[in-house]
Amino acid sequence: MNFASLGLSEPVLKSILEQGYEKASPIQEQAIPVILEGQDVMAAAQTGTGKTAGFTLPILDLLSTGPRPQPNQVRTLILTPTRELAAQVGESVALYGKHLPLRSAVVFGGVKINPQMMKLRKGLDILVATPGRLLDLYNQKAVRFDHLEILVLDEADRMLDMGFVRDIRKIIQMLPTKRQNLLFSATFSNDIRKLAQEFVNNPAEISVSPRNTTAKTVEQWVYPVDKKKKSALLAQLIHENNWQQVLVFSRTKHGANRLTRFLEAEGIKAAAIHGNKSQGARTRALAEFKDGSIRILVATDIAARGLDIDQLPQVVNFDLPNVAEDYVHRIGRTGRAGATGQAVSLVCADEYSDLSGIERLIKEVIQRKFIEGFKPVNILPESRLDMRPIKAKKSKKPKQNHKDGQRSSENSRGHKPNEKNNQHIWKK
Ligand code: AMP
Repeated sequence: MNFASLGLSEPVLKSILEQGYEKASPIQEQAIPVILEGQDVMAAAQTGTGKTAGFTLPILDLLSTGPRPQPNQVRTLILTPTRELAAQVGESVALYGKHLPLRSAVVFGGVKINPQMMKLRKGLDILVATPGRLLDLYNQKAVRFDHLEILVLDEADRMLDMGFVRDIRKIIQMLPTKRQNLLFSATFSNDIRKLAQEFVNNPAEISVSPRNTTAKTVEQWVYPVDKKKKSALLAQLIHENNWQQVLVFSRTKHGANRLTRFLEAEGIKAAAIHGNKSQGARTRALAEFKDGSIRILVATDIAARGLDIDQLPQVVNFDLPNVAEDYVHRIGRTGRAGATGQAVSLVCADEYSDLSGIERLIKEVIQRKFIEGFKPVNILPESRLDMRPIKAKKSKKPKQNHKDGQRSSENSRGHKPNEKNNQHIWKK
């Protein structure tokens, strides 16, 4: 469906045209008209589906009419779990809204608060924020919500995973009760539904990504290997297959650093991205990875979530994740929307139970391959598919006493609105 038939106004359509988007994505087709009508929305959509434009475009349209924001007041609040995502959503807002006279800003922890306070002075049409910093600003009376019209919770599942539920509840209490609510989440767990019940009214439910299914175009396999030989095997795979752009997942920050050093010593340009890295270092590493000056980006799960790097040719699980769902998120980085990708896991005997959990979740046994010289001494037992249904997990106790700065340093996922290699997604 083309954008013009969705009811968007000229200035918004103009920016879409400039982005070269030809057709609305399924989430956009469904969400845009409902949001324009002022209805609440609960949408199950992952990164890569065009969800950001799905809520940003109609919001810009709605805000283009109505009163100008008063000092320190905010008309729309978009909450994101991480700094990276906040920055990326902020970029989308600025890009799609460039032909409208609206004011927007992004605030998150880990950077100085004063410049953020200055931006809020005149009032904003759209504020993109992470929860902890927003609460700080509110407590310092830098931001007010008396005239708030729209609340967006982006990546609500991640917010819960990261222990933000209490902050979110506090924030919701600061808002006027009459407002439009939009909730976006990759999955709809029972916890998300419970949270939604507390603040979303009679929402339109939209779903475009089936839960816990891996993209069909991703080839997956496992290399059984001893733990101490994983680094050498990875280096060999990179050389042999001439892999040029690989996202490697490591379970720990130290593991990520160690592997990066090893690869560099092997003459393979690599960088690590995780919570102990400064914002500047992370942004730089990502830019270099995208422009090809770094071939290998080694990331922890949480840090990787903020990255606008979908549709990679190659994802490697250097360690398997403890949480089976993270495997689905990880390999979702490759092979999206028609492009084939490969997801390779280096699995040692200790990780057998993680592997079984993943195979049970995705309902398939992942094919195994062996490389000469790397056959494990500690045998990885054969997989047997456990077809018993997976019970819903009990809700985890949120972690407390940490601010965005620390929390979001280990976090997130995202997207830039004008990423060229993503633009063919909807052009079918
Ligand atoms: P998102 O799911 O919001 O992370 O968006 C994923 C990517 O898709 C972003 O890089 C957008 O620029 C791009 N995108 C969003 N909507 C469209 C569209 N209708 N046509 C082409 N690309 C799009």
